[in-house]
Amino acid sequence: MKILFCSSEVFPFSKTGGLGDIASFLPHGIMKLGHEVKIITPYYKSLEKYHDKMTFIGRTSITMGGIETIVNYFELVHNDLPIIFVQNMHYFERDRLYGYNDDAERFACFSYAILEGLSIFNYMPDILHINDWQTGMIPYLLDHHYRHRSFDYYRIHTLLTIHNLEYQGVFDPYVSRFFNTDFSFDYMHFSAVNFLKSGIHRASFINTVSPTYRNETLTQNFGFTLDGALRNRESQYTGILNGINYDIFDPKNDPMIHKNYTSRTIKNKLINKTYLKEKFFLDEDQVPLIGFVGRLAHQKGIDLMKQTLEEVLEHSNAQVILMGSGDQSYQEYFEYLNHKFPDRAACYIGYNEQVAHEIYAGVDLFLMPSLFEPCGLGQMIAMRYGTLPIVRETGGLKDTVEPFNLYKKSGTGFTFANYNRYEFKDKIFEAINLYNNDKQTFDLIVKNAMKKDYSTSKMALEYEKLYQTIIGG
Ligand code: ADP
Repeated sequence: MKILFCSSEVFPFSKTGGLGDIASFLPHGIMKLGHEVKIITPYYKSLEKYHDKMTFIGRTSITMGGIETIVNYFELVHNDLPIIFVQNMHYFERDRLYGYNDDAERFACFSYAILEGLSIFNYMPDILHINDWQTGMIPYLLDHHYRHRSFDYYRIHTLLTIHNLEYQGVFDPYVSRFFNTDFSFDYMHFSAVNFLKSGIHRASFINTVSPTYRNETLTQNFGFTLDGALRNRESQYTGILNGINYDIFDPKNDPMIHKNYTSRTIKNKLINKTYLKEKFFLDEDQVPLIGFVGRLAHQKGIDLMKQTLEEVLEHSNAQVILMGSGDQSYQEYFEYLNHKFPDRAACYIGYNEQVAHEIYAGVDLFLMPSLFEPCGLGQMIAMRYGTLPIVRETGGLKDTVEPFNLYKKSGTGFTFANYNRYEFKDKIFEAINLYNNDKQTFDLIVKNAMKKDYSTSKMALEYEKLYQTIIGG
């Protein structure tokens, strides 16, 4: 099969969250199964440093809503996988990836650039694998402007993967001029243009990143108003659990951590803990260390942390290290905690791959009390690093963390059902008590967690099956 993977971010070139990781892990996994795969992504400003390694492969002009613009295509082969970068200085060479007033125009341009590009760089895929709202308009544009051009365009199938239903690409109706068609209700949702809804409506098939999240999104509570649109496609909508790339996330050979370890040499995890504590000026006692790494967004359950962590610090011997960037009020809360408990609560505001790896390797417990979580990579990474996750039973967290059972001595982490601070606090104290009073059982659970296999190869096999179904069906 021939696949073009279309993503607005790809690790290590650009990343704001899990999409960037998966856009790199999944195409590699598919390629390893013997398929022809390329990735296409925008050429952001941060990519200048890779320019010397890129090859120019073509140029075209795009007209949308009466605006004409030129895009260049560059290719770079990274770990044997060709990545095509769409360059347009005006739209993409900016400091951030998203969050600009003209995002609709920017990602409409990216979508046209992909569809035009197929004939420019001569790569006609069986499957155009699109991801999230940024590429959600592609099926609409394909149907209206390209399918009739040639049989190669006519036979393209599209798969839309939803990595997070909250972000839909909602814009004022005036942006519909960029679609170069008559006005249509096809992409409209509550009087606004909605890129993701259009993709849900028109893609050949849809999936999201865990089976539980798939079912949740069909309900009003988790559907973010698109549950109806998804229910309309229910029989062509599936959930495939994300995986993580153990070449990057494995304490055995991770070059970013202080001391490598495996479940057999787990004692070395302690060296990482001491290193991390020194780095963040925490007291050196051997006490449970709790970490958090993530986007500081409402989704991540930081409001529950705000209602809980002071009490945990006041009534236990635990220490915390919190890392992330995003919402200002959450950043301020992290800083407040650090000021109130300078020897026991540390924070890192910002995005830093290395520090994130050091935290996964150095802490004992990892917080993910998410309000909703399509899949979540943090808990899977944590388990691999022998760090027990404390998670809410939602979406991919429910599908990946097996609850600790004291009597059976089973499980890979601590889970709670309802989004409330009492249940969350109970689980934190349960984990702290286990660490303090029954380290033997704690260590057993750590070993269970490290054994879990959430590899990209499993995920790739499932996508391969799905691609075959789509082409076959
Ligand atoms: P989401 O996609 O909702 O942000 P995921 O758990 O699926 O959440 O993926 C988050 C990814 O981004 C993980 O690889 C995590 O380690 C990484 N990450 C999140 N915040 C930071 C940060 N501040 N610094 C470094 N890496 C981060």
